[in-house]
Amino acid sequence: MPYKDPEVQKRYDREKYQRNKEKIKKRSKVRYHANPEKSLQANLEWHRNNRERYNAYHREWRKKQTEEQIARNSKMSREWCRKNAGKIRAKVRLYQKQNPEKTIAHAAVRAALYVGFLVRPKVCDICGKPCKPHAHHADYSKMLEVTWPCPRCHKLLHIAKKTPSRKSEQPR
Ligand SMILES: [Zn+2]
Ligand SMILES: [Zn+2]
Repeated sequence: MPYKDPEVQKRYDREKYQRNKEKIKKRSKVRYHANPEKSLQANLEWHRNNRERYNAYHREWRKKQTEEQIARNSKMSREWCRKNAGKIRAKVRLYQKQNPEKTIAHAAVRAALYVGFLVRPKVCDICGKPCKPHAHHADYSKMLEVTWPCPRCHKLLHIAKKTPSRKSEQPR
C-alpha cells in the first residue's frame, strides 16, 4: 500500500477515509464508549506530542476561513445551543452535583466580582496577554484566592495539574 510519493499517499488516504467515513466514525465511537477515560488520555497524549503540527494546521485553517464561514459556524453553534438548551442545563447541573466544591468556589468569585471585592484584571497573570482572564483556583477550598490566567494559560495550568511529570519536561 505505501506509495513513494507522499502526495499520492495523502490522496489515497483521504479517498480511503472518505469511502469509509461512516464506518470509521462508528468504530471510533464504539471505542470511545468502551473506555472514555483511556480515549481521552490517548487524545491528550496525541495533542501533546503533535502540538506544533496541530497548532500550525489550525492556524492555517483559521486563516483560510472566510468571514462568511465564520459567521455561519457561529450561527450554527448558537442554534445548536438553543436547540439543546435542556441538554446543556442538565450537563451543568450534573457537573455542579459532581463538583460541589468547585461550584461554590466559582459562585463565590462571581459574587465577589459583582460587589467589587475582586476585580478582574485586563491582562493574563502568566503571559501578560491583554484579554478577559479566567479566575483560577489553585485550591478550591480557598474560594477567593484566585489567579487570573488567560484561557490558553488556564488550560495549560489544568493540564499540568493533571499530569505533573511530563516526559518532555523531565531533566535529561
Ligand atoms: Zn496567558
Ligand atoms: Zn482553573
